[in-house]
Amino acid sequence: MAESMHCYRHPKRETRVSCATCGRPICTECMVATDVGIKCPEDARLPRGARAGVMKTDQVLRSILAGVGVALAGIPIAFVLFLLPFTWLLSAAAGYGAGVLINRAGGRNGGPLAIVIAVLATAVPFLVLLAPDLLAGLLNPRPLIAMVFAVIAAGVANRQN
Ligand SMILES: [Zn+2]
Ligand SMILES: [Zn+2]
Repeated sequence: MAESMHCYRHPKRETRVSCATCGRPICTECMVATDVGIKCPEDARLPRGARAGVMKTDQVLRSILAGVGVALAGIPIAFVLFLLPFTWLLSAAAGYGAGVLINRAGGRNGGPLAIVIAVLATAVPFLVLLAPDLLAGLLNPRPLIAMVFAVIAAGVANRQN
């Protein structure tokens, strides 16, 4: 027979199941099925609070991929925004949308890393469009303000809950 483990909450009960997070053995009564495996009641309770802001490697990768997608898709979007009235308002909305996309790609964890990815991804399209002006030494405030609004909105979308 395989090694016998005993539930950490019920020392007399044998079990072959252990928590995916802390590795402590748990009996079938105590175990909680989560989307990332079987967990003890304590760790199963954590996801919302304690895990927020801590992205797993695959979530980080997906966030970065989403960020690259946002940066590329954002170039034509920003171009159109510059032609429209209320550029700053539309940019803020677009930035928020981009931030939400990146947030979802990262498993809705949010946190500092998600904010950095979202801010960079949102700033890229604006910087690409502003580059000729910036290189020529022209500082046109309107697109700069729009970029600031978009970047802030993208960051806000990724704040931790
Ligand atoms: Zn556990
Ligand atoms: Zn138990």
